[in-house]
Amino acid sequence: MLNMTNFNKSEEFVTFGGATKSSLTPDPCSRAWVEVDSKAIENNSIVLKNFVGKDCLLMAVVKADGYGHGAETVAKAALKGGADSLGVATLEEGIELRKAGLGCQILILGNLINSEELYSSLYWDLVPTISGIREAIICNNVAKSNNKNFNIHLKVDTGMTRLGCSCNEVEELVFKIDCLENVSLKGIYSHLAMADSAHINNNDKTFTRIQLNRFNNVLKALGKRNNFLCRHLANSAGTLSDKHLHFDMVRVGLSLYGYLPTNDFGIDLGLKPALTVKARITLVRDVENGTGVGYGHCFTTQRRSKLAVAAIGYADGVSRALSGKISASIDGVLVPQVGAIAMDQMVFDITSKPEIKVGQVLTLLGTDGEMFISPQKWGYLSGSIPWEVLCSFRNRLPRVVT
Ligand SMILES: *Cc1c(COP(=O)(O)O)cnc(C)c1O
Repeated sequence: MLNMTNFNKSEEFVTFGGATKSSLTPDPCSRAWVEVDSKAIENNSIVLKNFVGKDCLLMAVVKADGYGHGAETVAKAALKGGADSLGVATLEEGIELRKAGLGCQILILGNLINSEELYSSLYWDLVPTISGIREAIICNNVAKSNNKNFNIHLKVDTGMTRLGCSCNEVEELVFKIDCLENVSLKGIYSHLAMADSAHINNNDKTFTRIQLNRFNNVLKALGKRNNFLCRHLANSAGTLSDKHLHFDMVRVGLSLYGYLPTNDFGIDLGLKPALTVKARITLVRDVENGTGVGYGHCFTTQRRSKLAVAAIGYADGVSRALSGKISASIDGVLVPQVGAIAMDQMVFDITSKPEIKVGQVLTLLGTDGEMFISPQKWGYLSGSIPWEVLCSFRNRLPRVVT
């Protein structure tokens, strides 16, 4: 018969008995969480700033909530490390940073299309990106009726075929913008389409070289006017691959977070990955050989096995496409994930490490002692890219900044 007196004295119950009022608000590290190393971001900002040199400005790209790291945290750490300005994708992202008290230049990389948005951009002192005369005129109207001056950057499409005016429009467009009384064109830029897949150092004919030539031709056509503009072209891949792509400023995202866009840069700059994803084990159990695990029984045990349930799932940002393909680190040992990743949970096979207990922590992504699991690897395994892997961590996962 079950002896309740002894059971009550078990370790778990003693802990529970000691619970205080503060236990009513869950510890952010009670289930699954993201750890963000703000010192790593600061370090990366210093490293990148040194790499581009004193004649080149460093823009820290903190869109998508700082690639899943928390925009405010990243922005502050990057500026501390020497970044000169910030880049965001949306108006809301820019406003959020202003509200957090950041006073530096903030460029909105997306396109604002109406006078409400552009008025808001002006009000919050955010620099919009303009791809044509339509938005430039709206900027002028908005600024004029508020008796203000609107600083803008012009985007040129050199081959990305997304935002930007075409190269042969630039001269006329700049002339027209310069005629607008309340608008000041402060910068001109373009975006690379292939910098992370090809190396212009090795091959002059790559598409990045073509984009560079087009951008240079556009600048040449502007004559002396281009000396008064902040000219920028490079993302992380462009920044790291060729100094000719730097111009007056580089816009770095991925490398600021500590990752290289491709593995073949052949340089070790000392970038430090800033993000770690951790989850707690909520149940450990023994199952028979031949037991189907999880939805659809995508995995069946091939032996008597010990399984651990971890409290993290695809709703937390771990793509379901990674089901059965990843491993997590615990005490420097990798344990394989098995079965389909569910919305809130996933299962690990810990047969090789039977001493694992409920409440212990698994590192799914990032550094655990000597072990490092990279977002590049997850990208590779799930048919994605490290950028998407990183910005998946949002909504439910609490962030713990160290
Ligand atoms: C996102 C973005 C960047 C940063 O790209 P990374 O590859 O992450 O360095 C730079 N420029 C523009 C226009 C972007 O949208």
